[in-house]
Amino acid sequence: MSKAPHTPPRRNRHPETELVHAGTLRSQFGETSEALFLTQGHVYDSAEQCEKRFLGEDAGFIYARFSNPTVGMFEARMAALEGAEAARATATGMAAVTAALMGLTKAGDHIVAARALFGSCRYVIEELLPRFGVESTLVDGTDLAAWQAAVRPNTTAFFLESPANPTLEVIDIEAVAKIAKSAGAKLVVDNVFATPLWQKPLALGADCVTYSATKHIDGQGRCLGGVILASKEFIENNVHTLLRQTGPAMSPFNAWVLLKGLETLALRVQRQSESAARIADWLATQKKVTRLVFPGRKDHPQAAIIARQMGGPSTLIAAEIEGGKAGAFRFLNALRVFRISNNLGDAKSLAVHPATTTHQRFTPEVRASMGVGEGLVRLSVGLEHPDDLIADLEDALAAV
Ligand SMILES: *Cc1c(COP(=O)(O)O)cnc(C)c1O
Repeated sequence: MSKAPHTPPRRNRHPETELVHAGTLRSQFGETSEALFLTQGHVYDSAEQCEKRFLGEDAGFIYARFSNPTVGMFEARMAALEGAEAARATATGMAAVTAALMGLTKAGDHIVAARALFGSCRYVIEELLPRFGVESTLVDGTDLAAWQAAVRPNTTAFFLESPANPTLEVIDIEAVAKIAKSAGAKLVVDNVFATPLWQKPLALGADCVTYSATKHIDGQGRCLGGVILASKEFIENNVHTLLRQTGPAMSPFNAWVLLKGLETLALRVQRQSESAARIADWLATQKKVTRLVFPGRKDHPQAAIIARQMGGPSTLIAAEIEGGKAGAFRFLNALRVFRISNNLGDAKSLAVHPATTTHQRFTPEVRASMGVGEGLVRLSVGLEHPDDLIADLEDALAAV
């Protein structure tokens, strides 16, 4: 078996087909299911071959910190699905975000990011990168003039999540990509909430896409994982050496689980999005829900952008429950089918109170500026029957 061919995008195949077949490597045994190559390294026929392998003149694997056949299959399948030239798997979604941003910046550079972000993404931009001399500016991501105004001569990277965690705020990726391009900066999009099914940031002009594979790609709450997708040039110039030398590598076991997760990704995301749409419409009629945000609804603040840039909604719903934190806690504690958990994209429906969990380290003022109110609950809709989920939410609202 030889080195994982990073399958070039074949746009004539549908995602469902790529998700089952793309990137598969078969050993001499011709196994049907993808093999788990649980090996740290590889042996060489001769010292000469070993030398050539290290020189890059002999195709093949060296060491699992660099690449691994099972991890390579996962990367090739993700690249085919995303329509990206290249992919690199990482241990977690945060390793993917951190490597992509560190790979684009050095001391003296500047990064602009949307302020409505997953807590850890915001930490990397607001606290970690500045420790290494990278300046950062956070803007209202929905305000295009703010992106433009934040640009400095030393701006090298733009970063955004859309829809954002947990507010489901949506950003015009095509417009922000244009501003980044004219500024000579690279745009990195964290596409976790949209999933690879509903949004293609690279086609909208982004330079790099990251995922936490922990979420919908696993989809059954088992493994951590992440992936960086971009052009071959972007990967070679910005993240290839950084990843090899610093070592946030994905475990082959996790890659194998995630490959099997990918086979059912389209089915799960389709079904979970349909259920989420039904549940969002029902929640919107409930008096104790004071604000509801769902990317599939006409009353979403950025509905026009969603119609242009997304092929489907989301499996997530943001709902503000009457009574602030106390109301939200009574609601969460009365749920029986939805479970309280900070994960998302899972087969099991999950609910979380962002203000006291994922966004706990921020002051109430910062949280408010990010759209994270004290009564906000984030619902991740799973694969249960939607009628059972609505009945559960009805009972929980009655307890508020
Ligand atoms: C969960 C999440 C991450 C981090 O992923 P991990 O796999 O937990 O490291 C990054 N961005 C977004 C939007 C997420 O939801």
